[in-house]
Amino acid sequence: MTTRTPGPSTLAVHGLPQRHADWTPVVSPIVQSTTFVHPVGSAEEVLYSRYGNNPNQVDLARKYALLEGAEAAVFLASGMGATALAHLAVLRPGDHLLASEWIYGGTRGLFDDELGRFGIEVSYVDPTQHRLWRKSVRKSTRAIFVETPTNPTLRVIDLAPIAQVSKEFGLALMVDATFASPINLRPLALGADVVISSATKYLNGHSDVIAGAVAGSASFIEEVTRLMRLWGQSIDPHAAWLVERGLRTLAVRMERHNANGLDVARWAAAQDEFAAVHYPGLPDHPDHAYASTALAGFGGMVGLELRGGTRAVERFLKKLKMVAHATSLGGVESLISEPRLTSHKALTPEERARIGIPDGFLRLSCGIEDAADIIGDLEQALGR
Ligand SMILES: *Cc1c(COP(=O)(O)O)cnc(C)c1O
Repeated sequence: MTTRTPGPSTLAVHGLPQRHADWTPVVSPIVQSTTFVHPVGSAEEVLYSRYGNNPNQVDLARKYALLEGAEAAVFLASGMGATALAHLAVLRPGDHLLASEWIYGGTRGLFDDELGRFGIEVSYVDPTQHRLWRKSVRKSTRAIFVETPTNPTLRVIDLAPIAQVSKEFGLALMVDATFASPINLRPLALGADVVISSATKYLNGHSDVIAGAVAGSASFIEEVTRLMRLWGQSIDPHAAWLVERGLRTLAVRMERHNANGLDVARWAAAQDEFAAVHYPGLPDHPDHAYASTALAGFGGMVGLELRGGTRAVERFLKKLKMVAHATSLGGVESLISEPRLTSHKALTPEERARIGIPDGFLRLSCGIEDAADIIGDLEQALGR
């Protein structure tokens, strides 16, 4: 190979490209073995698939680290497993975690219902209020957690002022960038210390694997890996193989997700039935200017506010033919869900309204079908 650093599409296919030896498989086989023969008397690390050192787990983590521009990465059994262990790796009893209030419902549940049991306090700030981050830092603050783009309002958070506060106070800045994937956003280049991702979504991309990933410094990933072994959170080798296969098409899938998201959002913005359309690629989105510089693409996620509230939503959803009413996102097929019944179920209607998710809000994950067919399905469901 030339000495040129490979681009993200090449990294997604190959990792660092290498000449294949004669007669070796072009595609790495699944190493469906829990254990490996250990040299007698050897003090070398034992190979055991719960330890995350099965070849499929190792290859996948190496490729993902390259895509994020990280020293190291590790895959876990789910996105929640990744979020939980990344936080347990930095937080101790008595510590305080400062978090954005616009986060995935499961993450909110983890912070509110579980971290307290470890003596960790969590408080929340509106992530767009730059001065609030600094004002909310306590003596005991140890880490900052931000999700961007946010679920489901698609706000794109400017990480620079938050990274500045985290550097100034010596905090770990952890960013869940599931909605962007490393093709659209690389948080480490913007000052984050740790990237967390639900690999269930765009990284795998085919709605057939639950997995999560954490990327960061080698020493941080070593600590997450230590916890992964003890808390039993490693990814299964077969799942790792599937995610690695998904990654090979990540760049081209994201290209289509980005194009479809933009087409669908533009169409929806012109329809009277929608009171609001949330998509960072639309000029009236509050973060459009920032998103245009920070993101390589605006993504496939679109927030739709249907007029007529929950009754209108039910009528609409029952008429859809191709777009499936299902939770999750980032797969090749278009999915639609109601955050009030899924990711944000734990919040009261008032709490949801306050963070911009009124009843009637629909979260659409545009797949990689033809944009005209996604729009056609939505259009007929509006009763046209
Ligand atoms: C889905 C999701 C998670 C949780 O991931 P799982 O793989 O379902 O455990 C975390 N953060 C975000 C932003 C998500 O969309």
